[in-house]
Amino acid sequence: MTDAETTPRTGKRVLLANPRGYCAGVDRAVQTVEEALKLYGAPIYVRKQIVHNKHVVRTLEAQGAIFVEENEEVPEGATVIFSAHGVAPEVYEQAKQRSLRAIDATCPLVTKVHHEARRFAAQDYDILLIGHEGHEEVIGTAGEAPAHIQLVDGPDGVDKVTVRDPEKVVWLSQTTLSVDETLETVARLKKRLPLLQSPPSDDICYATSNRQHVVKEIAPECDVVIVVGSRNSSNSVRLVEVALDAGARAGHLVDFAHEIEDAWLTGARTVGVTSGASVPDELVQQVLAHLAERGFGDVEEITTADERLTFSLPQELKRDMKAAAAARG
Ligand code: SF4
Repeated sequence: MTDAETTPRTGKRVLLANPRGYCAGVDRAVQTVEEALKLYGAPIYVRKQIVHNKHVVRTLEAQGAIFVEENEEVPEGATVIFSAHGVAPEVYEQAKQRSLRAIDATCPLVTKVHHEARRFAAQDYDILLIGHEGHEEVIGTAGEAPAHIQLVDGPDGVDKVTVRDPEKVVWLSQTTLSVDETLETVARLKKRLPLLQSPPSDDICYATSNRQHVVKEIAPECDVVIVVGSRNSSNSVRLVEVALDAGARAGHLVDFAHEIEDAWLTGARTVGVTSGASVPDELVQQVLAHLAERGFGDVEEITTADERLTFSLPQELKRDMKAAAAARG
């Protein structure tokens, strides 16, 4: 029995999901931009949104980061940071040609999927990459071995798959998918391709699965689940879907507390609150304050996992930080 099930349903309350918010990869990416700004000074160019969160991007912009879509927008010789979602090898190549100082803030768990793609492509496998078409992470991973990788965009994409040799095919995935939907996609793929191999370890990352797991725990008790996150944040959007699938009567994604509509709370007794992996906790605290003002001051935190993973900063940045510290004596 979970904590949520043992709590008597008296009065209005909030069930606050834990884990929620920042994951190790996002924390590292944001710190990379902050440290680069301190070390090299503004402006620092960042290719794509460093993480998919409006507030984080605006905050870093205010500190001197300039977000661009492509390397061509970065002046020759300037510093560019690649986002947590990863990039295709050609992006490093372009940066080299423009003499950019490139710092790679790709999450190490995305880099792991890139390594898998390279390894299976080198062994001449067909690789079925389960993910969302057009997502930056998928573009980056597919760019590792475009001739070997085909995208499978959810269970409905399975019928379109064609492979050269049904005995030499493996599936990999985007890190921020719905765990359950991916299992369904894989099950359908295996019906068509019984010898389909699985990745050596889970590609959906610990942060994505932990945030979905706790939402599943609280959702059946919730009249409404509010997920703090941006619309282009895959893992945040998935949390709303998971909450609804798990029994929440309603689910909404908001970037900021002021976006919560009073009508969503009408008649509600229990409100679930969580946040995507790119969301700083101050935004969740603002949501809790907003709910408290509307009678939902009783907050119970439901914890289903203890996250302690951290990643060190990118090597190239650490090297320059060390050199700067040595020069200062
Ligand atoms: S959501 Fe997962 S893969 Fe993405 S940055 Fe966070 S830890 Fe890395």
